Amino acid sequence: MSDFDYHQLARDIKRWGRELGFQQIGITDADLSAHEPGLQEWLAKGYQGEMQWMGEHGNKRSRPAELVPGTARVISARLDYLPGDTAQIKVLKDADKAYVSRYALGRDYHKLIRKRLATLAKKIENALPDELKPNGERQMRPFVDSAPVLERPLADKAGLGWTGKHTLILNDSAGSWFFLGELFTYLPLPIDKSEQPNRCGECTACLKVCPTDAFPEPYTLDARRCISYLTIELKGAIPEEFREPMGNRVFGCDDCQAICPWNKYAKPTCETDFLPRHGLDNSDLLTLFKWSEAEFLKNTEGSAIRRIGYQRWLRNLAVGLGNAPTRPDIIDALQARLGQHGELVNEHIQWALAQQARPNRRRKRKIKNPHANAR
Ligand code: SF4
Repeated sequence: MSDFDYHQLARDIKRWGRELGFQQIGITDADLSAHEPGLQEWLAKGYQGEMQWMGEHGNKRSRPAELVPGTARVISARLDYLPGDTAQIKVLKDADKAYVSRYALGRDYHKLIRKRLATLAKKIENALPDELKPNGERQMRPFVDSAPVLERPLADKAGLGWTGKHTLILNDSAGSWFFLGELFTYLPLPIDKSEQPNRCGECTACLKVCPTDAFPEPYTLDARRCISYLTIELKGAIPEEFREPMGNRVFGCDDCQAICPWNKYAKPTCETDFLPRHGLDNSDLLTLFKWSEAEFLKNTEGSAIRRIGYQRWLRNLAVGLGNAPTRPDIIDALQARLGQHGELVNEHIQWALAQQARPNRRRKRKIKNPHANAR
């Protein structure tokens, strides 16, 4: 049916998106060919580390129509997650406290966003005449960080912001504290042209602040050096060179976003689900380290933290405690867990005890990447 008003549908999609709680919706085509060489180069350099899934699925990651046949457009959605109280960042300066990345303080976002995108898909379907409705060959599929999807280039193309030097999407009126989700569709919707120009300019604050120097050059992240990767994705031992610079960051790291001047425009989230739970925005390392496995499972129910499991949780906290000031109660707690939770945790506890045995040590706060280009 050629006279169907896709322009009206696109306007409706944006209105429905706002009604569903998204801060912004953009529509783009499914052509990511410009990003394919960069992705291949990034993978060839091994910057994905243990995230082997980044290189799997052939070209599906950069070719949405190979992931979902018939995809002609991607509807990209943005949902803010910044908690109203931004004082949590001060936790970074308190070596007895545990810093948990802001995105993980509340409930896991995957289900919430996928559900809303599925509702959006339903609304679109209801607005279509029978001959345009989805069928076996015409699909609308929601994705939230769960499939091989280049969500940031798609959001960039859809006009949700520009890609900052820290590789995240930045919006000139909303900063970068937001989640992204995508709805793939076969519908030939009008494409948004309102791409925001790159406004990083001469700024290099995010590159300089990174404790582990994870950016070999602007717009490139070596995930193997990133504290988010080390504390969340890496399954084995955290390389020793990164342990001191990790400080008290026990799940993720927000430094590159927290320093970014554009985040003064970030708005607090309206989602109660994303507000901090179990005091995770201001907890002692020691309190969290003393959680039993049952407490860990209970307190991280519905949280993104749960996916790393209890051993890696203890591994990360042991590093934090190794970086905390020397104290008898910390040493006692570390010793009490020795030999209880397997070799991975043991080795990190031994490291932490060795650190605690050096009361006058000066922690290395930053580490220089020997392979980074001069900036
Ligand atoms: S800190 Fe500066 S360089 Fe980094 S993303 Fe923000 S504006 Fe761009």
